[in-house]
Amino acid sequence: MNIYADHAASSPMRESAKAVMLECLEECGNPSSIHAAGRLAAARLERARKEMAELLNCRPSEIYFTSGGTEADNWAVRAAGQGPGQTVTSAFEHHAVLRALEALERAGGRTTVQIRPGADGVLDPEKVAAAADGSTALVSVMAANNEIGTIQPIAEIAKALKKSGRSPVFHTDAVQAVGHIPVDVQKLGVDLLSLSAHKFGGPRGAGALYCRTGVPLEPLLFGGGQERGRRPGTENTAAIAAMAAALGEACGIMEQAAAHTRRLRDRLAARILEIPGAQINGSMTNRLPGNINCRFDGVEGETLVILLDLAGVQVSTGAACSSGNGEPSHVLTALGQSRREAYGAIRISLAETSTEAEADCIADHLESIVADLQNG
Ligand code: PLP
Repeated sequence: MNIYADHAASSPMRESAKAVMLECLEECGNPSSIHAAGRLAAARLERARKEMAELLNCRPSEIYFTSGGTEADNWAVRAAGQGPGQTVTSAFEHHAVLRALEALERAGGRTTVQIRPGADGVLDPEKVAAAADGSTALVSVMAANNEIGTIQPIAEIAKALKKSGRSPVFHTDAVQAVGHIPVDVQKLGVDLLSLSAHKFGGPRGAGALYCRTGVPLEPLLFGGGQERGRRPGTENTAAIAAMAAALGEACGIMEQAAAHTRRLRDRLAARILEIPGAQINGSMTNRLPGNINCRFDGVEGETLVILLDLAGVQVSTGAACSSGNGEPSHVLTALGQSRREAYGAIRISLAETSTEAEADCIADHLESIVADLQNG
């Protein structure tokens, strides 16, 4: 059985997204052109913007299309984090946020305070708010962690910031959350939000940044007047239309999809915990429906991922984009785990297309591979 259980890295495209994308690929217009073909492309873009705005509960004019989550994160951090002063973030953000902040520090004048989550992988909102002082221009905290799947108290952080009288720009990297759990920018109380299409069944290479009206948004790129002059470059109409279709479908079936995925995830987690020396990383309650991140005493995560792959099961050691850099996961060390413990982790991420038979098969393979590795 060939099993794909790495949906947090990238999920297969939804049929609805593929259909729209193929239609758009037959069309040649540039959305900035004033002729009929151009107007058709522009209409595609504006329809996608309107649909996505409705799903996120914001105005269409507050959505800016990007090339994906990394660009949206970099843009948010650069736009709100320039100049002297401090940024408050968490120690287990995606590198698209952390590395962008490091670049701002190198450019001079900027400092970053990283708040550590509890051992359960969840941040304390009061701690985040308390770290913000008068010099804090930006607070950036992810909505759900990409390795351990823990959901962060974003609305509570927004409230705590408000209560403390501070009003920094509040950004959330919601790349792992959008399309999987309810994301409403008004309820969350955020000013900026990043999302990425390929995490919810859209194409890779498309994403968006939500920016609340009135929040300053300096461009990251310079060129033409696209995206109201803030994000130049001819828009990838096909990918953007497909992203909106995928998000519409994901949100439409979210409740049933989450219930199914959570049930499978819990079934698999129960089997995993029967394996000697098994541990699940991060809270099992505040967690994305499809995520399991676990380790087994005496077993290296990378070895396990390779042996599972040979058995036809595709999972990862953590973030796909930092796999293979030789360093232990900064997410797990932020939780207080030792390097050795962090090297043991694997991430299994299921989706609504996953089946009970697949979950059981993953458990069977884990049982036998881990036993072989532990018994040397
Ligand atoms: N932020 C988080 C939490 C992610 O999981 C990812 C992708 O893994 C990104 C940002 C980057 O998104 P993209 O792959 O669209 O650049």
